[in-house]
Amino acid sequence: MVTKRQEDLLDLKLDFQKFACKAVNIAFPLVGVISEYKKLKIVKSMHRYTYAKHTDIVGQPALVMAKPEIDYSRIKNRKAAKIVEEFIGVLSNHFPPEVLDNFYRNINNTKLVKKFFHRLVQDNGGFYDPEQKGGPMIQVEDYCNLYHELFHLASSILLGNIFISGFQQDVTKEDGKRTTIGSALNEGYTEVMSRRYFGSRHAMLKDAYVPQRIISERLEYIIGREKMEVFYLSGNLSGLIEELKKYASVEEIMSFLYAMDLTLSSHEFSDEDYEKNQGLLKVINAFLVKTFDKKQTMRVANGEITDEERIEESKEFVRGIITEATIGGRVYDGHCQDLSFMKIMLGIEGEYETQQMRDLLDYEESLPRSR
Ligand SMILES: [Zn+2]
Repeated sequence: MVTKRQEDLLDLKLDFQKFACKAVNIAFPLVGVISEYKKLKIVKSMHRYTYAKHTDIVGQPALVMAKPEIDYSRIKNRKAAKIVEEFIGVLSNHFPPEVLDNFYRNINNTKLVKKFFHRLVQDNGGFYDPEQKGGPMIQVEDYCNLYHELFHLASSILLGNIFISGFQQDVTKEDGKRTTIGSALNEGYTEVMSRRYFGSRHAMLKDAYVPQRIISERLEYIIGREKMEVFYLSGNLSGLIEELKKYASVEEIMSFLYAMDLTLSSHEFSDEDYEKNQGLLKVINAFLVKTFDKKQTMRVANGEITDEERIEESKEFVRGIITEATIGGRVYDGHCQDLSFMKIMLGIEGEYETQQMRDLLDYEESLPRSR
């Protein structure tokens, strides 16, 4: 028996296209319609990256098949060595050696340094930089920041002028300018992984990357944990895009990644930028809701789930959507048309914002700038 509400839900036609075009025009007035991701133009600088022209998405990096051994004699600090041991102990219980290839290749040539950061110079808890003059390096202010940076190390590979780190890809052009894509998803998911595998032992400054983490969790709900974790550790952004292409167009996927990246750069937004980018969170949420719903429609059609299961899962999914985020001291509203409609359809309006809101109340003005 199909009830009225289920019938309505089945008929749910998310008007993403229309909305996205409108919102994209607000968020990316200089980009216009993105016809192909290879020609994606990046108009806003990120961290130390400069204005970009084109970004190509690199396919899955080839395996090096590094020896699964760690030279602990190189790690002078006992506490750091213990954390490295704990890190790989936990990860090797969950992943086969080929997924940890990047970790084994990077760990034996990276210096681990604990150092006090001057707040005026740096407002984060640490960073991983494989391109430091003195050789690859992780610097942390406290050991609790080391898990996050070790995840960066475990998911990074430097291929000439292309730096791949989890879902992030940076390309350095001949003129020294740098383009980047996937940076916010990468930081958000690095936090998902750090919290998942190391719980309270891990901590970044000011509970870092909260909105990016919550958005990443929703994306993982669509992709599935197992696949998403392997894509991340293998530096396989193109694999993630291929998976999403089952439910969304390349233009929608790239707009989503791009909108996410803007959430990281927003601490530098001027009044004018803020005005221009107010649709950010709406674009992100419209993508998540629409993509998830497309997947669920397919699963019902394939007989994988029942209508009742679809409703329950949809409720769970929508409850985890972030509807407001304070980024760089500015409040972004995430109530897009699709989300409001979905809430009403599922009968959960008003009840679902509490946890996410509580999460965000603690969220301070500035975001860390580590990578
Ligand atoms: Zn980071």
